[in-house]
Amino acid sequence: MLEVKNAKMMYGDLVAVDHLSFTIKPGDIFGLLGTNGAGKTTTFRMIMGLLDPTEGEVLYNGKKIGYHNVNEIGYMIEERSLLTKITVKELMLFFGQLKEMEPKVIMDRLDYWLKRFDIEDYKNKKIKELSKGNQQKIQFISAIINDPKLLVLDEPFSGLDPINMELFVEVIRDFQKQGSMVVFSSHQLDMVESFCEELVVLEKGKAVIEGRIDQIKKDFEKLNIKIVGDVDVEKLRSIPGVFKVIEHKNVIEAKIENESVASKVFEYIRTCKHITKYDVEQASLSEIFIAKVGRNHEEV
Ligand code: ATP
Repeated sequence: MLEVKNAKMMYGDLVAVDHLSFTIKPGDIFGLLGTNGAGKTTTFRMIMGLLDPTEGEVLYNGKKIGYHNVNEIGYMIEERSLLTKITVKELMLFFGQLKEMEPKVIMDRLDYWLKRFDIEDYKNKKIKELSKGNQQKIQFISAIINDPKLLVLDEPFSGLDPINMELFVEVIRDFQKQGSMVVFSSHQLDMVESFCEELVVLEKGKAVIEGRIDQIKKDFEKLNIKIVGDVDVEKLRSIPGVFKVIEHKNVIEAKIENESVASKVFEYIRTCKHITKYDVEQASLSEIFIAKVGRNHEEV
């Protein structure tokens, strides 16, 4: 179990992370989100024991985390800073041996992962000869080569095509199944929504949204209704509690304040003709983010 307890990190006078608390249990995939400069990297560094919090603590299985835990941790950093002049094999031997792995074990695992990521031919190629996506795969393999119990992934999906994204997701899910803890950051909120159950959104070092995604959505109250049919959009707009109506190509979307408004909208829709769809949906994570963090940050 990983426990971040009331952690605060200051760089001089700047509060980079402000009294942050969360817990990650074995088998959890945990999202750490936030706008640029919100404090994600600082939090990752505290989680890995590379930075000591100014206040509070980070505990790994009940004990203060530190460099001594390195063999159980895998880390993929945002800057794709691989040692580019050496080969894939040399790079893995370097990373694996830093984690006290036997060369034979490193090579066996490397063969397995290169096959799984469909890049078997690259073992003896220099990193700089690989495409960006394949370098990213190599960086991911370097994070998982030690079979980590705690996997920290800073923007693992950025720049990946949908097929490779799916491949990464499958592998991360396998680590989840074997009881590893996974913490990751991403700017793709749709992805986050489908991928993890629990998250923290940081803004200027403070948690502005936190907890289980289903609960966050429930607490948010605002809902979306998707309608297909002959609807008078102005009439829909005039219903109290409907605060926005968007006309998409084939669907009309009404945004409502809370569940009680849905029945008023339904009463009106019953009087309309050719209704083929009426779906009440929870707000998306992206909508909740914009509502809580502000419209200046549509991307996190
Ligand atoms: P991004 O998404 O842009 O990578 P982030 O959420 O990872 O951002 P951090 O890198 O943790 O954010 O930075 C949080 C704040 O701390 C920022 O204001 C940043 O300028 C500041 N900061 C980060 N590292 C240092 C440092 N070594 N010394 C001083 N200030 C720092």
